[in-house]
Amino acid sequence: MKNKKPKFAFFDFTDCEGCQLQIVNLNTVLVELLEHIEIVNFREATSERRNDYDVAVVEGSVSTPHDIERLVKIRRQAKTIVALGACATIGGVNAVKNLNPPGIAQHRVYGDKGKNFETLPVKPIDCFIKVDYYIQGCPVHLNEVAEVFKCILAGKKYDMPNYPVCMECKMNENVCLYQKGQDCLGPVTRAGCGSWCINNNNICYSCRGLVDNPAVDAQRDILDKYGLKLDEMLAKFSLYSACGGEKYDQEIKKR
Ligand code: SF4
Ligand code: SF4
Ligand code: SF4
Repeated sequence: MKNKKPKFAFFDFTDCEGCQLQIVNLNTVLVELLEHIEIVNFREATSERRNDYDVAVVEGSVSTPHDIERLVKIRRQAKTIVALGACATIGGVNAVKNLNPPGIAQHRVYGDKGKNFETLPVKPIDCFIKVDYYIQGCPVHLNEVAEVFKCILAGKKYDMPNYPVCMECKMNENVCLYQKGQDCLGPVTRAGCGSWCINNNNICYSCRGLVDNPAVDAQRDILDKYGLKLDEMLAKFSLYSACGGEKYDQEIKKR
């Protein structure tokens, strides 16, 4: 009987490949998923290289003209595109390059030969192609990966959480970091990680990007209680805010 399992392929662009490693870490969930999908291209997990995929899971941001050509080709083949991780969805840490004048990054990495490497300002993949599913985070959160893959198999839309990390942080009964004199981007950051960093004694750097409309959907009580201004908060954090499509651009322009 003909194999009807949807064929999945995984591709990486400018990134550290940590999100693909997370997928490999799905362990038993991955084994269960393999009963329902066929993986035809996944450099980190198999030597198979086929281009007859239905679903392309794309990790990494776009930073060269060649990336754009490759991405467009992937979009032509795939019925469904998944943007995997902060690099693909909001530009990720690579976008810090955009904060420097053009040419600085090439020179730092390649010295005088840097001018031989063509590079573009870092952008998330949806600046170039239509994306059907987004999985946020640096790295991605395993529960959410499993959830999104289930939605793809069921032909359902995945609704990303559109409330701030503070809500999860409060449910986890953490003491607010502002109360301890620390800064945290939780009030304006899209939830879904279960306040992962705060639970582990770190601050939120907004690796999942902003909630859709941070000026409205932010955790107002935290902002009001501590006299926080959105633009001032964002100005303190450049790790994930140097890029990220229009949402970040709009916020940055307001500074
Ligand atoms: S989002 Fe983070 S973990 Fe994932 S590929 Fe980019 S840098 Fe690596
Ligand atoms: S600001 Fe940070 S520490 Fe405070 S509630 Fe929000 S996520 Fe938690
Ligand atoms: S707490 Fe913030 S930085 Fe940490 S995983 Fe969640 S969204 Fe990312």
